[in-house]
Amino acid sequence: MLPFPDSRWLVPFDDSFRHDRAPTEPPPGSPDEQALEEELERLTERLEKLQRRFRADGRRALLVIVQALDAAGKDGTIRAVLRGLDPAGCQVTSFGVPSKEELDHDFLWRCVHHLPPRGVIGVFNRSWYEEVLAVRVHPQFLGPQRIEVPEDPEELWAWRLQAIREQELHLSRSGTLVLKLWLKVGKEEQRKRLLARLEDPDRNWKFNARDVEERKHWDDYHEAFEQALRATSRPWAPWYCVPADDKDYMRVQVARLLVDALELLDPRYPDLDDAERAERSALRKALRA
Ligand code: AMP
Ligand code: MG
Repeated sequence: MLPFPDSRWLVPFDDSFRHDRAPTEPPPGSPDEQALEEELERLTERLEKLQRRFRADGRRALLVIVQALDAAGKDGTIRAVLRGLDPAGCQVTSFGVPSKEELDHDFLWRCVHHLPPRGVIGVFNRSWYEEVLAVRVHPQFLGPQRIEVPEDPEELWAWRLQAIREQELHLSRSGTLVLKLWLKVGKEEQRKRLLARLEDPDRNWKFNARDVEERKHWDDYHEAFEQALRATSRPWAPWYCVPADDKDYMRVQVARLLVDALELLDPRYPDLDDAERAERSALRKALRA
């Protein structure tokens, strides 16, 4: 089993997670904005060094799944945390409304397609979890999927959660460390951010009238998140529920999780054996001459 970072935000593996007990605000006594910015700077520098070794090591992959309601800060957090990395060693994939081609396949297919290879950090901005979140809250999205829905639709969500759990176990056994983040934003903070998108011309493009509509389903989404996290937070693919109301705080938490994860994987530059060392020494001499 691959090691995973411990954290106060780790979602327990025993089905006891309650969404209403998971905070959206930083704990009292958290560092101020400037201290958080400095901490993020330190962590991203550390991440960059670790990533070099991770790429060279090439035995493991890291998959970070980011899920959240609208305006919780998925895009900004991914940008802030990955900013110092070698772009050749990471890949970010966003999953929106499925295309015709994607709907012609099983629901895992489109994500499987984008899994990171060994040595690469892959980030999923949304993922197969949309199939037990957005689709669960809006079962009419099932229509275009043309699947058979069991008489008791609850069975369908249980099947999907099982499929996801098993897929993630398979990934872990194949050398991919899977970390999953729920960036949990409060309803009032979301209202402010959506309003800011409407008011700021540079952010207007991000505004989607559906996001306001989706607020009516706030409780349904939280129920769906709770069930998904309970069913799929496991030692081989843990969930972390990170408070998202303070962006600086959230970014530091996410960066720290990534740093801790890579440190635990302990990537190493490949060792040379005696023959390789001798060969390189000869080549060095030849190049110098
Ligand atoms: P955005 O991340 O703002 O580009 O929005 C993407 C939208 O696609 C969100 O409203 C998601 O709920 C929606 N979405 C993502 N995956 C699915 C899916 N499998 N079925 C239906 N809607 C989805
Ligand atoms: Mg959006």
